[in-house]
Amino acid sequence: MSAYKIAIVGAGPAGYFTAQAFQNAQTDELTFTIDMIERLPTPWGLVRSGVAPDHPKIKTVSKVFEKIAKTEGFKLFANVELGKDISLKDLRERYDAVVLATGSSKGRKLGIPGEELSNCISAAEFVPWYNAHPDYVDVDVDLNCDTAVVIGAGNVAMDVARLLAIDPSELDQTDIAEHALVKLKQSQIRKVIICGRRGAEHAAFTAPELRDLPKLDNTDVYIDVDQINQASSRIEQMGEIEKDLRNNLEAMRLIAEHNKKGSERKLEIKFLSAPIQIKGGTKVEEIVFAINEVKDGKIITTSKTFVIKAGLVVTAIGYDAVEYAGINIENGRITNIAGHVEHNIYVTGWAKRGPVGVIGTNKSDSNDVVDLIIENLKIPKVSEGILGLLKSGHEVIDQMAWEKINVHEMISGEILNKPRIKETSKIKLINIGTQRRSDYKTS
Ligand code: NAP
Repeated sequence: MSAYKIAIVGAGPAGYFTAQAFQNAQTDELTFTIDMIERLPTPWGLVRSGVAPDHPKIKTVSKVFEKIAKTEGFKLFANVELGKDISLKDLRERYDAVVLATGSSKGRKLGIPGEELSNCISAAEFVPWYNAHPDYVDVDVDLNCDTAVVIGAGNVAMDVARLLAIDPSELDQTDIAEHALVKLKQSQIRKVIICGRRGAEHAAFTAPELRDLPKLDNTDVYIDVDQINQASSRIEQMGEIEKDLRNNLEAMRLIAEHNKKGSERKLEIKFLSAPIQIKGGTKVEEIVFAINEVKDGKIITTSKTFVIKAGLVVTAIGYDAVEYAGINIENGRITNIAGHVEHNIYVTGWAKRGPVGVIGTNKSDSNDVVDLIIENLKIPKVSEGILGLLKSGHEVIDQMAWEKINVHEMISGEILNKPRIKETSKIKLINIGTQRRSDYKTS
């Protein structure tokens, strides 16, 4: 029988689906022990700090993660940071395979003048801010203006715009960060404009998310129907239309044509609008856009421009992977061939393929990487794994400690009819996790 030790770095969807693929591949002759290493004191990655609080259904995948975590041979080592508490070299030596599932958390830059002005924020900061990520609690967000612009035509842009545009009381019964809810309740923003640089036919939104927009209770959503008509006629000329694209355009047409409620709160989606400059004294005051056109399927930037006066800009234009000592990044991804990085190091999820795909996309991706790892495995190493690498007294949040945190947050939320109240301080999270079970207190 061969028993292999696997280290998975990153406790997000890609990490858990990798663990699951190893668990599913076990036979009487082949077994795996899995150590999942996570820098935060809490697991679940983007399911905790990325998914919008008003989309609780998407978060139910965490039940699958907990089932994986309770399977024999799986151990969680949270509050352990690669590059600080342990090195990649150490992991490489002690494990038969190391899988990096570290995601992409660096927001891409527009690279236009004025991007450095205050209140021009990347979704890579804004989203974890409203989702109570301990590292983003202090992001300086000023909602004291009437109009906000969100750059990008993807689902992250839509999440951000929706959160800014809806009545914050609709978030009362969600797990949004308390600090964000307080600020959103004081927000003066009544108009949010999403700007995509290409046509409606090129938008990266998905149809289910678009279809939710006309259902918003307290917000009217606008799209210029001419932009949809023009996009439809452009794609008809190009031959057969893919089902997803047809669904997307239908969902956008529904938004354009549905009856408006006359709400004070407005969300608008504009296409063919490429930001070229952000202007302001020290803070964002207006954004200059070039008007783009589509000619023979290509985007042409015209000399025509327009300006939107706005006090907040959020850029939601994609992410890059973070660097680790000894790992190369190319085009925002960890350099790899089909998930193989070098020696016994592999990569999966957004860090492997770039920031595309929904949570479930990570499942097939991780299955493929695990197949490749199993093909490449050699004689099992004899080592104690991560134990012995950490300094004495290092507070590891293991599965039992995480379960204490999880229960604590859920109990705290129950009183207020919320799924949970997320703790934002790493120290408090560690204290909650490492105190004795009988010491539970709700705050
Ligand atoms: P995305 O889907 O790739 O969208 C990024 C958008 O930014 C695109 O419209 C892109 O336009 C635009 N963009 C890129 N560079 C730009 C620039 N310099 N100037 C102006 N616009 C620019 O990325 P995302 O929204 O970050 O989402 C990442 C992944 O997570 C996606 O697969 C998404 O579906 C998924 N996600 C899913 C959900 C959900 O299911 N509810 C929620 C959030 C995220 P071009 O196309 O012209 O490059």
